[in-house]
Amino acid sequence: MRQCKCGGIIKQNELTMQRESWHCESCGKYEIHSQNDQFVEHYAKLATQPGWIDYVRHQVREMEKHPMFNGLGKAVAQRIKELNVSCDIQS
Ligand SMILES: [Zn+2]
Repeated sequence: MRQCKCGGIIKQNELTMQRESWHCESCGKYEIHSQNDQFVEHYAKLATQPGWIDYVRHQVREMEKHPMFNGLGKAVAQRIKELNVSCDIQS
């Protein structure tokens, strides 16, 4: 069992690719551990920009042809959901 700085309990989310993500039940803070995280982060952020989603879809599909990036699309999709969640909090 892990504890967040806010005192809340940190729970592990669904594992995709070699990507472990955690979130705090109290403050909603996210932590991610993955060797492909730089790509997940990059494409997820890009996908949230207007007009970029098709480019991201194409790029991710190309990268997934390589076994190392198997599951990248899923991880990016999950990250986009997470980004939307944090947008809701900010607005
Ligand atoms: Zn917390």
